[in-house]
Amino acid sequence: MKKLFSAFINFLFPHCCPVCKNPIERDALLCAQCLDSLTWINDPKCVKCGYPFPGEASAETGAMCPVCAAGLNELDWVRSSVEYDEFSKQIVLAFKYSDAFRYTRLMSRAMMLNLAELPGNVDLVMPVPLAYKRIVKRGYNQATILAAPIAKILNVKMDIDSIWREHRKDMGHLNPRQRAENIRGVFHVKHPQNIRGKTILLVDDVMTSGATFGELRRVLKRAGAKAVYGVTFCRVVRTV
Ligand SMILES: [Zn+2]
Ligand SMILES: [Zn+2]
Repeated sequence: MKKLFSAFINFLFPHCCPVCKNPIERDALLCAQCLDSLTWINDPKCVKCGYPFPGEASAETGAMCPVCAAGLNELDWVRSSVEYDEFSKQIVLAFKYSDAFRYTRLMSRAMMLNLAELPGNVDLVMPVPLAYKRIVKRGYNQATILAAPIAKILNVKMDIDSIWREHRKDMGHLNPRQRAENIRGVFHVKHPQNIRGKTILLVDDVMTSGATFGELRRVLKRAGAKAVYGVTFCRVVRTV
């Protein structure tokens, strides 16, 4: 009976691939072709920052990338699901500027795949804050839409209130050094008592240079956070 009912619902409201709109199974996130078009970040990767290693040569478990090995990476642990390329860019832009809810399930589920690699328990999930002016313009903070199901599956609180962000110009055209300078001092702690002693998982849609996570981590650590982790849907991977 239940099966018949779900077949009827499927008939009335057929499920579509959020990217190409082809029909898909009710539980599928994407059609097989679109799933294949994403460049998934698999092992081997840096145990700390999740940066994918080229080829299979350095497949040692627990290996670090040169940046982390030299102690130059400020982040405690970061994972991203897919590489930022022409295909994932379409998804991220549509998620950001037109139809966030169509892509939420795909993006948050993809991000959840990384949670099994978390190095420790998380106390709080925190979407990367957006400046108030931008929230008003867009109507929502897209990171919050991704963070909510992640907080739910980890069974911890989502914190959207302890840090606020100043409005600064868009970082789109800046190089990594300019990004780091532009983001410096942008986050402010409103409720340090919520942060002290906590392990915090930051959530964002894209990681570009890591400057935003780095700055947020600096502010959270100064406010007494125990550890700061990060998870994003996609990530810019540069060939070094
Ligand atoms: Zn598709
Ligand atoms: Zn690394």
